[in-house]
Amino acid sequence: MTLANTVPELGPTDDDSHESARARFLTCAATGLLRHGVDAQYGGFDDTFQALIVAHAELGMRTRDPGLLLAINAHLWGVVFPLLRFGTARQKQDWLPGLLGGEQIGGHAITEPQAGSDIHAMVTTAVAANGGYRVEGHKRYITNAPLADVLVVYAREEGTPSLSAFMVRRDDPGVEFRTGHGIKGYATATIGEVLLPGCELPAERLLGKQGAGAVMIQLALEHERAFIFAGMTGVMRWQLQRAIEYARTRPAGSGYLAGVQGVTHRIADMQLRLETTRLWIRECAQLLDEGKRITLASAQAKLYASEAFLQSSLDAAHILGASGLEGELPELVHDAMAGRLLSGSSEIQKNIIAAMLGLGVKKS
Ligand SMILES: Cc1cc2nc3c(=O)[nH]c(=O)nc-3n(C[C@H](O)[C@H](O)[C@H](O)COP(=O)(O)OP(=O)(O)OC[C@H]3O[C@@H](n4cnc5c(N)ncnc54)[C@H](O)[C@@H]3O)c2cc1C
Repeated sequence: MTLANTVPELGPTDDDSHESARARFLTCAATGLLRHGVDAQYGGFDDTFQALIVAHAELGMRTRDPGLLLAINAHLWGVVFPLLRFGTARQKQDWLPGLLGGEQIGGHAITEPQAGSDIHAMVTTAVAANGGYRVEGHKRYITNAPLADVLVVYAREEGTPSLSAFMVRRDDPGVEFRTGHGIKGYATATIGEVLLPGCELPAERLLGKQGAGAVMIQLALEHERAFIFAGMTGVMRWQLQRAIEYARTRPAGSGYLAGVQGVTHRIADMQLRLETTRLWIRECAQLLDEGKRITLASAQAKLYASEAFLQSSLDAAHILGASGLEGELPELVHDAMAGRLLSGSSEIQKNIIAAMLGLGVKKS
């Protein structure tokens, strides 16, 4: 499978309508972009995570569309890969063809008004009812919710600390997937809410084992953290090129900005951040391809990549002077600010890294 086959000829857009978001998602799916890293028996390319990140980086470079990249990542790590790992044969058969073909859009709903970084503060509940489950609660800041056909919704078994995961469809009784957020950033993604005043689900919508939700969240977020910036490296490559072009052509004294050390050092830092981000993401892909866990590597990758993207977005806008405040560059600063929070903030990644070093252990 060559890149030309899997990365569509999509360019940038400033259309942030839902119609455009769906059309661009479908265009990516049509070229097979959602099939990387998936076994052939489920309709995937049977290739590696290393192939996946190359395709995502190329998509980022071509589209410079962080919203589209976010939508694709939410879909893959939120629902496709949890289904591959935890779904029953029947669930895989029912859901994967539509999700890999892009006819169905998905994501995962963890965050609640009272539970962000601390997933254990979740108050959405699931109780056994009518041979299935009744799920009640409210989720917010959910990528793809306004468009999604299906979301993996996490809920607490009432009266216990255990979390479980459920496949919830847009047309299930007692649920509403809706628009609603005021976040600046990822303008072309659709981010919204899930209202569950009393969602009735048949028993077969439980995903994974009852009570396994916390582990499933952990594994889903490890993939998300490892790869959510793969596409963004394409955007960072474009930022770097813009800064270099400007510095080479902008007169400064008897020469150009490209001869001013204060400017070239800033560009050198951007280059180093880009290459280090790529190395971290490649490391995660390689580890997964070798069947290894990426708890530490994915936390390090996400922490480094999100901080690097923010600093390089600020630098790119700064190097271009006031003209850097026109168009896409300042919008990327907003995207990068949100990037430090989603999928676990920078502080949460540091907590994970410290825990993996045996720190933060309470006295028993
Ligand atoms: C663009 C975008 C897309 C998103 N998509 C999804 C999605 O698809 N599904 C989903 O479920 N959620 C999604 N989220 C929500 C995201 O996961 C949360 O924003 C994130 O978990 C942080 O939670 P919070 O915003 O409630 O911040 P809080 O948890 O309230 O944290 C506030 C601040 O306190 C710090 N903090 C909190 N706890 C600790 C701690 N223990 N140690 C150190 N510092 C701490 C944080 O770092 C942060 O700076 C998305 C968010 C954004 C911005």
